[in-house]
Amino acid sequence: MNDEFFHPVSGFDLPRFAGVPTFMRLPHVPQGHERWKDVQVGLIGVPWDSGTTNRPGPRHGPRQLRDASTMMRAQHAVSSVRPFETVNCADLGDVGPNPADINDSMDRITAFYDEVVKAGILPLTAGGDHLTSLPVLRAVARKAPVGMIHFDSHTDLFHSYFGGTMYTHGTPFRRAVEEGLLDPKRVVQIGIRGTMYDEEDRDFAKAEGIRLILIEEFHRRGVEDVMAEAREIAGDGDTYVSYDIDFVDPTFAPGTGTPEVGGPNSYQALQVCRELKGVNIVGADMVEVSPPFDPSGGTAFLGVSVMYEILCVIAGQLTGS
Ligand code: MN
Ligand code: MN
Repeated sequence: MNDEFFHPVSGFDLPRFAGVPTFMRLPHVPQGHERWKDVQVGLIGVPWDSGTTNRPGPRHGPRQLRDASTMMRAQHAVSSVRPFETVNCADLGDVGPNPADINDSMDRITAFYDEVVKAGILPLTAGGDHLTSLPVLRAVARKAPVGMIHFDSHTDLFHSYFGGTMYTHGTPFRRAVEEGLLDPKRVVQIGIRGTMYDEEDRDFAKAEGIRLILIEEFHRRGVEDVMAEAREIAGDGDTYVSYDIDFVDPTFAPGTGTPEVGGPNSYQALQVCRELKGVNIVGADMVEVSPPFDPSGGTAFLGVSVMYEILCVIAGQLTGS
């Protein structure tokens, strides 16, 4: 049993709908807090969507995800992991972006994550649009390139938009490969589908050795088989997990900017996370939850459910169980 300071508020002590919402009802430990040095997993909000090219809104994601996350309980139903009692988890607060300046925002985000990494805290991020992953990777992969298991309808490997704009939510992993943050041979993208502009992103993936698992193959082979290959591609090295909520079929996750039909259901959305067991995770994110398109709150609830799944795998990893 870890330090009680890091235990979430129980629904038996204070009803879930009451109190100030932090991620999973964990203590709020902002930078400079005396317990910052004791945190092992930091849940971080990045309320930023300046990379969005179509329907906006993920800047409102962290706040709605925090609210929905008060539904999470102490124990995983299948693995029996009790993440909050085995590793010190905390809500590190939000990274404040500059909504009028993309590069300044990225610098602010990277600076924050540099401190997180320096403190030995494993970051679990709630975005934000998918450009969020780039400044996070700049900190997480500062010493050496990392592998990545990426769930998404889209590759986010495009070169540029609007004739030369390099930083959008369609380009983060192209930049990450160019900047030496990702080892493309250890990157797998799962769930790719939807109508296309062209094959430019897929050509880049092929040239770099990035493995794309299109949705047809995902459905044909099933979760376990696909994820066994994903674990093999990631290998034993440091690996980042990036989860775009539009990976999931819009029936289950309509609250996102760029939905694509024909995707996994909400059960498969959780299953892929359970199959991450054995991967050496150094950071993870949940991005593209857009509350303005999520009037029921169901997309945010799925988003935090996925975060809880990943957190349980990380807890098992950090405790060697
Ligand atoms: Mn994406
Ligand atoms: Mn996407």
